Amino acid sequence: MSTIDEIKARIDIVDLVSEAGVKLRHAGKNYTGFCPFHDNKRSPAFVVWPESGTWRCFGACNEGGDIFKFVMKREGLDFKEALQKLAIRAGVELTEFQRETPEIREAYDHLRKLLEDAVIFYRSHLFNNKEILTYLREKRGLTDATIETFGLGYAPQGWDSALTHFTQRGYSQQDLVDAGLLTVRESDSPNPNSESRVYDKFRHRIMIPIRDENGKMAGFGARIVDPNDIPKFLNSPETPIFSKGRLLYGLDRARKPIRTADQAVIVEGYLDVIALHQAGYENVVSPMGTALTEDQLRLLKRSTRRIVLALDPDVAGQKAVLRGLEAARSAMDKEGELGFDARGLLQNEARLQADLRVATIPDDLDPDEIVARNKEEWAKIIADAKPIVTHVMETLAAGQNVNDPKVKNQIAAQVLPLIEDLPSPLERDTYRQALARMLRVDERSLMSTQARGPVVKRKPRGMLSTQKAEAAVAAVNPVLRLESFFVGIVLRTPELVYQVDRKLEESNLSALSVDDFEYTDHQLIIQEIRQSLEQVDHDYHAYVMSRLPDSILPLAYELLEASEKFKQNADALRDDLLRAVKKMRLTRAAEQITQYRYLQEEAGEQGDARAAEFENEIARLIKLRMYMDRMKI
Ligand code: ATP
Ligand code: MN
Repeated sequence: MSTIDEIKARIDIVDLVSEAGVKLRHAGKNYTGFCPFHDNKRSPAFVVWPESGTWRCFGACNEGGDIFKFVMKREGLDFKEALQKLAIRAGVELTEFQRETPEIREAYDHLRKLLEDAVIFYRSHLFNNKEILTYLREKRGLTDATIETFGLGYAPQGWDSALTHFTQRGYSQQDLVDAGLLTVRESDSPNPNSESRVYDKFRHRIMIPIRDENGKMAGFGARIVDPNDIPKFLNSPETPIFSKGRLLYGLDRARKPIRTADQAVIVEGYLDVIALHQAGYENVVSPMGTALTEDQLRLLKRSTRRIVLALDPDVAGQKAVLRGLEAARSAMDKEGELGFDARGLLQNEARLQADLRVATIPDDLDPDEIVARNKEEWAKIIADAKPIVTHVMETLAAGQNVNDPKVKNQIAAQVLPLIEDLPSPLERDTYRQALARMLRVDERSLMSTQARGPVVKRKPRGMLSTQKAEAAVAAVNPVLRLESFFVGIVLRTPELVYQVDRKLEESNLSALSVDDFEYTDHQLIIQEIRQSLEQVDHDYHAYVMSRLPDSILPLAYELLEASEKFKQNADALRDDLLRAVKKMRLTRAAEQITQYRYLQEEAGEQGDARAAEFENEIARLIKLRMYMDRMKI
């Protein structure tokens, strides 16, 4: 997620507007108040939509926008200044953006191409190696179709197989080092006389290609063949295109199934992901040997809010929890183990408004072993997943004598801080009651445990307030999604704006305008595209990119990249864009109708002459909606 989107997600517009002195009143899904930008105190014509993080004045201003626009207008700032201000408020660091020059882009594409070639290279070595193939087929139960689908391969023995192969094909040693396929020998290496400065990083290992969520090659995970080799898994080194904390293994294949199932399952191992997909459970991904990051949860959050952690029982359960959550946090965070930090996860859950559950895998088995013994069992394990707090409570109590007052105290001391971290008062009550029931104590004595308990430190709620958590949802609100789609496509092919205009005109609708967009960053991009279309007559894309202010470049690149997956031809794309505009306008009109109705009623009650004006607006908007609904796009 770009920092701009992060800021949008983290700042609650209701808080922001209220702090500027506007008294807001809840009215349905929205908030209304008196407009701070014009001094008509007759009717509350200023509306805030928390879901999309936008506002609009239906009175004299007849203007609206997002958090950036609000601050720009309120404090007379430009976009960049407003961005800086809100970044501080959101606690998001604005890094000076390195313009991703065409050269840098080309270099990345070159590395990805090399990695794609490496997939083919390792694959051919796999299919020449009976022993490894037999291992995968028989010991791991993988079909040839699965092996192909996941692009599995084998890195041969020897120190220079990849080195020789790829340098003969025109890649430089530096390319191979940059892509993480070669290791550079340390100068104080025990064997300084060896002929080469570099050698193959992956030797005698099963190669697992790791792709980003769009299917672009990012790196490899490599598992030992010889049980005596260490480490058991070796990943590509961190490079600009392989950033472990920002990738989830299998997401390129899991994304659609996750949408369909409206649920994502996180397991620990590559081979578990592969085995589960083969068994028909395709909504499964895994991290790559590191603790789950918020970035990774956000990645999933784009497709679903329901996330199940199906982790090694050791890690998720006894080991982590009984050692005490704080200890677990530092112990489990280290490389190589998937952290299970209930508190951290709960905070993410609140911030992301996700529904995080923990599944318990029985008998010390890995998921691949579960589906090997019984496919249906997996579905049941996932269906039985418990909310985090319940899971921790049950794990702590398992095998313990909860009648022992010492045990009661211990459990309460560990669970209560988690409960206090929950953003919703209702949830807090429910879990307190559940805990009291489980420990067979009454709730009041539970609360006094908390008052005394040395482990319990109340944390400032800060980011965990429900409203802020709600604001995080803005990251995936439909308006933002539509606009982002539109902007991504026209950034890539600006001339499509002409065609969209022509089609809109043919339907007697007004041309695309900056005002069709709610978000200031999108408005700035569309404005730049409009101007560029008038000024040059070739390579609009490069021209637009060169003129965008630095402050929105990271966003622009992210939108561009996201748009790469739309590969339909220009006509189909234009129609998709038209549908997006139509949807945006229909949504806006619906919101306006709701608001004008409200204003009209209010004015009517007060005998205000403007009631008729509002009535006319409503009629106009309804006609517009009906007209657009009938459009054949
Ligand atoms: P297998 O079933 O082949 O033994 P696994 O996936 O079950 O493999 P685990 O030992 O359970 O292997 O590890 C789970 C995951 O943790 C691996 O898939 C890998 O991503 C990561 N991992 C394990 N060991 C290491 C290591 N030494 N270095 C880096 N990552 C590791
Ligand atoms: Mn395993």
